[in-house]
Amino acid sequence: MRDLLVAGAERLAVDDPVLHRVLAREQARQNATLSLVASSSVVDPSVLAAQASTAVNVTAEGYPGRRYHAGCGVIDDIESLAIERAMSVFGARYANVQAHSATTANYAVLSALLDPGDTLLGMNLAEGGHLTHGSPAAYAGQYFDAVGYGLDANGLIDYVQVAELAREHRPKVIICGATAYSRIVDFARFRAVADEVGAYLMADISHVAGLVATGLHPSPVDHAHITTACTHKQLFGPRGGLILVGRDHDAPAPKGNGDLTAFLQRAIFPYYQGAPALNSIAAKARALAIVATPAFAATTERIVAFSRGMAAELVERGYPIVSGGTDNHTVLVDLRARGLSGLVAEEALEECGIVVNKNRVPGDTTPPLVGGGVRLGSNSAAHRGMSGAEAARCAELIDTVLSAVTPLGPRAYRLPDDVRYSVSSQVAELAAKFPLPGYATV
Ligand SMILES: *Cc1c(COP(=O)(O)O)cnc(C)c1O
Repeated sequence: MRDLLVAGAERLAVDDPVLHRVLAREQARQNATLSLVASSSVVDPSVLAAQASTAVNVTAEGYPGRRYHAGCGVIDDIESLAIERAMSVFGARYANVQAHSATTANYAVLSALLDPGDTLLGMNLAEGGHLTHGSPAAYAGQYFDAVGYGLDANGLIDYVQVAELAREHRPKVIICGATAYSRIVDFARFRAVADEVGAYLMADISHVAGLVATGLHPSPVDHAHITTACTHKQLFGPRGGLILVGRDHDAPAPKGNGDLTAFLQRAIFPYYQGAPALNSIAAKARALAIVATPAFAATTERIVAFSRGMAAELVERGYPIVSGGTDNHTVLVDLRARGLSGLVAEEALEECGIVVNKNRVPGDTTPPLVGGGVRLGSNSAAHRGMSGAEAARCAELIDTVLSAVTPLGPRAYRLPDDVRYSVSSQVAELAAKFPLPGYATV
């Protein structure tokens, strides 16, 4: 296997130097810059190797032991391993590892549970929800009657509004979990509302799956009927999705369609997807094994310590933080009072080697590609070994850049050269001191 991967990399360099150069540049960029993108992480080299394995060659419609053609005996073992590890990491009674992404996992679940025009209740995109939770810009908002809840005056999920909207609209599905929300989600409270109105509860833990796995965020697996997640954000795995079920594994599926887990098996295949990506499933199995280690638990401790450290230092320096702080990996910084758009902040920071993403903040009227703030995340920094002390340093560097920026409208700005040089070299120093494990050689 090693010879194949090495030979493949060498052949790529010789036969396709153009592509090889771009891939090498990307690896170098990841190592030399400081990623604070909340929706990303870094995979271990062993996850890369699993993803690059010959499992990619097998077309395997169906599930282990029930495939539509021969030659699947070995890859059945791969998929079974991924399923076992997913169930073990999350204490689940059922896991489906075939979804190509969390978007696909969510849509497989929603389109199986709901008919077009049925009502769902999810968190508004503008207040921290995900596109797939009912945004009119996405399939979920177009094919279903999507009702949205948001945040209260303190920037916390408005559970009273959730209950009121549920009673008024009688959704068939309620979705909890978020994309830009820095506080603990009370899954039991969502389940009580779902039970009151007879809805299924789907928890999407794409952003906090790592913290859930190590117990630093409460688990929805036995509260929600169905839990979904992606494997490439906080599970440090390949691009892909997961579907999990806990105590409701034998709950009835809609319209007399058997129990929930048999129904979800069919929801992914043949209803929503075709053949699974077995190389990605191998990489999921590898990532989930790493998630189960004490070293990963330590990483998640640093994830929370880093984001708390960053939030505290930014508050100290006068930046309003949405929800008033953080319990997870995310810090959502409101830049409107500073007269800076998220876009300007994102670009100015990237010039200095700090990679973040522009984000709308509650009450924001800017277009999504401008945004009134930035979202910061600590997954990659924690993976590099950084913790509270480095978090304060990063917040200081961010403040140095943002304080030096002169905005020239929502899309243009000036940044003095001396600030750019000084911060860039400090970021480079920090990145060199905390290299991405295993990524140093090209
Ligand atoms: C990122 C995200 C998704 C989509 O994940 P993909 O795997 O990129 O499709 C779904 N739900 C939430 C809450 C997310 O944050």
